[in-house]
Amino acid sequence: MAKHNYHPETLALHAGWRADPTTGSVAPPIHQTTSYQFADSDQAARRFGLQEPGPIYTRLGNPTTEILEQRLAALEGGAAAVAVASGQAASACAVQTIATAGDNIVCGTDIYGGTWNLYAHTFRNMGIDVRFVDPSNPEAFLKASDDRTRAWYLEMLPNPKLVVPPLAEIASLGRKHHIPLIVDNTAAPMLAHPLEHGAAIVIYSATKYIGGHGTSIGGIIIDGGTFDWAAKPERHPLLTTPDPSYHGAVWTEAAKPFGPIAYALRVRAVLLRDMGAALSPFNAFQLLQGIETLPLRMPRHCENAVTVARYLERHPAVSKVIYPALQKGESFKRAQHYLPEGYGGLVGFELKNGLKGGKRFIDSLELLYHVANIGDARSLAIHPASTTHSQLTPEEQEAAGVSPGYVRLSIGLEHPDDIIADLEQALEKSRKA
Ligand code: PLP
Repeated sequence: MAKHNYHPETLALHAGWRADPTTGSVAPPIHQTTSYQFADSDQAARRFGLQEPGPIYTRLGNPTTEILEQRLAALEGGAAAVAVASGQAASACAVQTIATAGDNIVCGTDIYGGTWNLYAHTFRNMGIDVRFVDPSNPEAFLKASDDRTRAWYLEMLPNPKLVVPPLAEIASLGRKHHIPLIVDNTAAPMLAHPLEHGAAIVIYSATKYIGGHGTSIGGIIIDGGTFDWAAKPERHPLLTTPDPSYHGAVWTEAAKPFGPIAYALRVRAVLLRDMGAALSPFNAFQLLQGIETLPLRMPRHCENAVTVARYLERHPAVSKVIYPALQKGESFKRAQHYLPEGYGGLVGFELKNGLKGGKRFIDSLELLYHVANIGDARSLAIHPASTTHSQLTPEEQEAAGVSPGYVRLSIGLEHPDDIIADLEQALEKSRKA
């Protein structure tokens, strides 16, 4: 596909697939199989020996899943992608591919709560230290780093604060010290392009906008192919020294016949092999269906979200609206720079009458769903203080940007008048709480 230089709208429909060579099927077939008949024992040995690409076992790769991987790599401008079972699996495997016990990563504080739990607790229990820093301060990443720092990690358009980090400055500072930047771009597919700003790796929870219809959990890890892991080999021993788990393969060498994809190769050959977080072929098919309309959906999510944010800004029950288009100063400049095509579908707001008002508002919604998800075609709402962030102390909630009256909306594709009518009646009820 690359030679045609197609636009994103075209890649979303065509990258990675034309038609089935046997049946002519235009829709990607769902290869619901665990394993693949080898032509002969030599071919089997070549596949296991990484001399010949091709399917071995669906935990390691699957033809339907491969279409999804190629399509997302093409859309993101990456060299290769590996699909995994969930966004959580993506954030775990993305780090574990290059970091092990005794190593550390530096991570912006503004991240999804599930990623926080994984990094602050589970990774630390496994011996990978995660050091949290202010994501708006590139120098803070450097200050927290040492010889065992294997990656820096950021979320693009992190909720609830929705403040865009200075991604290019952080990425370029990291590159100076041979530290790759991993960006979770879940909230901004088609809108933010982290690889163009110097990120080495982009990950997604495909569960959200990529699938777009609230049907399938999935994740993706995209290798930008521009990071030179061997430039300072002692920084990345898992990729540059013999891997005893794969007959001494040195991944930067083993990848050479296939392109600049040492990182993606290790995600697949080691992390998928050992941790087993493979995506089901059926979910790969569902996510491919979602991608076909992603370039159409994202602008509509953004337009509707701006309309809702402006409506909320004028509402007497609302004390504050959190949306990138309404921010001031540096945050707004960064939002304009990194999100030129739209500010995303997430809108936060605070109710004047706090916890009681927030709960009443949520309980009064008739059209918006009350769910712990984002990025669905339908509009969704949640009150973090009584749900996702209820285990945090009030101080921790404050630091996370969750006040008692904070409500998070994921604005969908309904007619904006209908979304606003539902918000209006729920806000009226919340005022009387
Ligand atoms: N990253 C972000 C930004 C998310 O919002 C989520 C889920 O809400 C995840 C990762 C985890 O994704 P999944 O639920 O697919 O495991």
